[in-house]
Amino acid sequence: MIPFNKPYLSGSELVYIEQAIKFGKLSGNGFFTKKCHLFFEEKYGFKKVLLTTSCTDALEMCAILSNIQPGDEVIVPSFTFVSSALAFIRVGAKIVFVDSYRDHPNMDSNMIEGLITSKTKAIVAVHYAGVACDMDCIMELAEKYNLVVIEDAAQAIDSFYTGKDGKKRALGSIGHLAAFSFHETKNIISGEGGMLVINDERFIERSEVIWEKGTNRAKFFRGEINKYEWVDIGSSFLPSEIIAAFLWAQIENLEEIQKRRLKIWNTYFENLKEWVKPLNIKTPKIPKYATNNAHMFYLECASLKQRASLIEHLKKNKILAVTHYVSLHSSPFYKEIHGRRDLCNSTYFTDRLLRLPFYYELDVDKVINVLNQYEE
Ligand SMILES: *Cc1c(COP(=O)(O)O)cnc(C)c1O
Repeated sequence: MIPFNKPYLSGSELVYIEQAIKFGKLSGNGFFTKKCHLFFEEKYGFKKVLLTTSCTDALEMCAILSNIQPGDEVIVPSFTFVSSALAFIRVGAKIVFVDSYRDHPNMDSNMIEGLITSKTKAIVAVHYAGVACDMDCIMELAEKYNLVVIEDAAQAIDSFYTGKDGKKRALGSIGHLAAFSFHETKNIISGEGGMLVINDERFIERSEVIWEKGTNRAKFFRGEINKYEWVDIGSSFLPSEIIAAFLWAQIENLEEIQKRRLKIWNTYFENLKEWVKPLNIKTPKIPKYATNNAHMFYLECASLKQRASLIEHLKKNKILAVTHYVSLHSSPFYKEIHGRRDLCNSTYFTDRLLRLPFYYELDVDKVINVLNQYEE
């Protein structure tokens, strides 16, 4: 059976975990956590990084830092993972869902301004499949209406955006805040895991407090104060050193992982681009301003029925391909609050998108061969 995902292992995970154990300090913010922080800050130009136990946690920290109050509005794409909205529900926000582009699952930047009201506080820009949203447009709107931009960069490690100024910036370094995931389905992993990126100075001091259960412990350990106290809200958002040690083993192999994943992506793309035509299937589009970090390879099927029959054909040949998000605006939890405003492109991707197996060790030729045998 070819599964949809298989976690990548570098082989050094246990070595570093053993080292962490020998150091005798297993709680958070130790040797490996600091190594990871420094790596990401230096490689991607993030102002400050804090590892978290998940991307969801990092998004919850964003909700707290943005100071969102009950009744405030947050603009979120409908075609995304639950956490992009959930994290803001927890602080009482009303989610205002925005549709996808017709030809890409990312939020349609032309639709955002029409949804901004006096209650809008933030925009959550989700980089679907690691492909950048139109960040120039989103940052301009944020400036005009004084909004916080949170990049949900869960899938977007090692991906970039080139702005109108010609500068190439890492995703996660553009918004005021950003959240990444190291869940086992992402490009680099720690089982469960994530990180918060703080690019706007005004959030840095508070982020450390929220991260450490509402205490000013970080200041205390830096010797800036002589006792640490409870000063704010917060939670236990930081992961243990065991998780950071695991992540470090992955980080060391990031370049190799990315090289291999890009090769798989390009093999899919090159070998399927003729195959899709008579079937009316579409391959992924990458806008000029975005890079491809090979997080995912998906097809846009011609119909719900065709998608089901492709899944069936692959399954018969022991290959697991999967659909993706069910639009959040039509979820059991939120459809009443969302109301009737139609988000037809989001619905289109809910019904048509099919993700093909994608992982480091994948035998991509085998999947392509089986697809080539498909008959309608
Ligand atoms: C995976 C994912 C998340 C959640 O990440 P966790 O680390 O599992 O909390 C959030 N948003 C998007 C877009 C994701 O793909």
